[in-house]
Amino acid sequence: MQRTIDKFSFTSEEDMYAAIGSNGITAQQVVNRLAEKIRKERDHQETIDKIVSDMKSPQQVRTTESGVIVRGLENLLIRLSRCCNPIPGDGIVGFITKGRGVSVHRSDCPNIHTEEDTDRLIDVEWAVDSSEARKDFQVDIEISAFDRQGLLNEVMMVVADTKTPMVAVSGKADKEKIAKINMTIKITDVTHLHRIVDRIKQIRDIFSVERIIH
Ligand SMILES: [Zn+2]
Repeated sequence: MQRTIDKFSFTSEEDMYAAIGSNGITAQQVVNRLAEKIRKERDHQETIDKIVSDMKSPQQVRTTESGVIVRGLENLLIRLSRCCNPIPGDGIVGFITKGRGVSVHRSDCPNIHTEEDTDRLIDVEWAVDSSEARKDFQVDIEISAFDRQGLLNEVMMVVADTKTPMVAVSGKADKEKIAKINMTIKITDVTHLHRIVDRIKQIRDIFSVERIIH
């Protein structure tokens, strides 16, 4: 019994050559088929080459200390502003400083939205690997709570439990027993921040947890 072979879907080159004998496929069809195979392999290789060269291009390979890049501009001095402490995942905008360089703010930072300043704003973005390259974006948060015994301890436990480095912590309470705890923590990105904030909010007597803009 003769084997039926779909001439356009050989599973191997042997099948293809076998088909020439059994199904009367022309040599030209074989040549076309091989040419297509070679082209596909070349396209594949070009895709790989492109990915590798993109990875090697200065813009991508040079992870700026800030984790932020300005497209088309290299060797710019970029720093994260201390007023709003942007972290990967935040909407950000660059502000050209009077000296040299760009300071990066959160898009909603009130310090950059004065009338005279708008022409000094430029587009910036997080480097693709910003949160992998650097895991210590500093964030200031303020926790409001009902002041009670053990509160600060419980907050500290949550921070420790999430393995979040703490740079500074201070607390005070007023006569109405409202406690304010200010903390500076080092985090990876917004996901990390949301996780820790959610955990803190689960503690009894916590009213609010907020990021601080100075
Ligand atoms: Zn700012």
